[in-house]
Amino acid sequence: SDDKHVLSIHSHVTHGYVGNKAATFPLQLHGFDVDAINTVSLSNHSGYPVIKGHRMDLEEFTTIMEGLRANDFLSDYAYVLTGYINNRDIVRQVAETVTEIREKRQKQGKKDVVFFCDPVMGDDGRLYCKEEVVEAYRELLSHADVATPNYFEASVLSTVDVKDLESAIEAANWFHTKGTPTVVIKSFKMEDDPAHLRFLLSCHDKATGSTKRYTGVVPYHEGRYTGTGDVFAASLVAFAHSDPIDVAVGKAMGVLQDLIKATIECGGSGKATLSSRELRVTSYPDRLQHPSSVALVTPLP
Ligand code: ATP
Repeated sequence: SDDKHVLSIHSHVTHGYVGNKAATFPLQLHGFDVDAINTVSLSNHSGYPVIKGHRMDLEEFTTIMEGLRANDFLSDYAYVLTGYINNRDIVRQVAETVTEIREKRQKQGKKDVVFFCDPVMGDDGRLYCKEEVVEAYRELLSHADVATPNYFEASVLSTVDVKDLESAIEAANWFHTKGTPTVVIKSFKMEDDPAHLRFLLSCHDKATGSTKRYTGVVPYHEGRYTGTGDVFAASLVAFAHSDPIDVAVGKAMGVLQDLIKATIECGGSGKATLSSRELRVTSYPDRLQHPSSVALVTPLP
C-alpha cells in the first residue's frame, strides 16, 4: 500500500549486513518500498582490519535530495529511517529533509511522516564519530518521533551513564526533554542478571505531559554482533506500522533473538571470526516477519 514507503538513510557495505544491507531486506519482506540513500559505500564494516570506499558529503546528499524533490517523490515517504551517517552536516540536513517531507505531505492531506532516528555513534564504550556529530544528533532528536539508541549512545547523548533501569529511565527522560516522544534503549547489561539484556521503552505524551514506560529482557548471547541495531530499527518500523509500539518492540526483539541464534548455528558464535558473525539476514526470511518468540514488554508502574 501507499503508506508503506520509507526513506532509509544508512550506510552501504559490499560485504556483510549492516546499515541499509541489514535494514532493507526485512522492510521489503514486510511489503515496504525502501528508497535507500547510502551515506557511505564501503567494502565492509569498520571492525575489519581493512576498510575501503567512499563517504558521502553534504553536497552529494543534497544532490540526491534535489533529484527526489524534482521528481516529486518526497511526499511519498510515510517513514524516514536514519542510521549510520557520521557526518555533522548531513545529520543537520536530515532535519530539513524531514521538515520538508512533513510540509509536503500535510499540503497533500497525507498522514504525517514518522521519523525513526537511530543515532548511530558507537558501541561498548567506543565512540566512532566526532563530538560534533553527537552535538548534531542532540539537535536532530527534537525532530524525531522515535529514537532507538543503544545504551552507549543513550549515555553519550544524555550524559547519564546507563547501567540499570533507573539510569535508563533518566536517560530516556533526556530524550523526551529534547522533544523525542518515543525512545527505545535497545539493551543494557545488568550486574544482578548477566544472563539477560534489559531494554526500556519510554513513551511521552506531549499533550498530557505523562510518560508511559515499559521494560523487558532478552537472553544474552555471548559475543558482539554488528548490524543488530540496524535490523532492530527496521523491524520496529515494519511492526509499528500495524501494531502498538510496545507490541512492535517485543516482536523486533524476537526477530533479533532468532537472527543471532541463526548466526550462531551457522558458526558465528561469540569468539568466531568477524565474517562468520555477520548476521544471517537472508537465511530465514520467515522469521523476520514471524519471529519464533516475542519478548514480553511489561508496563512499569
Ligand atoms: P546501534 O549502534 O544501531 O544503535 P546496537 O547494535 O549497538 O545498535 P544493541 O542494543 O547492541 O544495539 O542491539 C540491538 C538489539 O539486538 C538488542 O535490543 C537485542 O535484542 C539484540 N542483541 C544485540 N546483541 C545481543 C547479544 N549479544 N545477545 C542478545 N541479544 C542481542
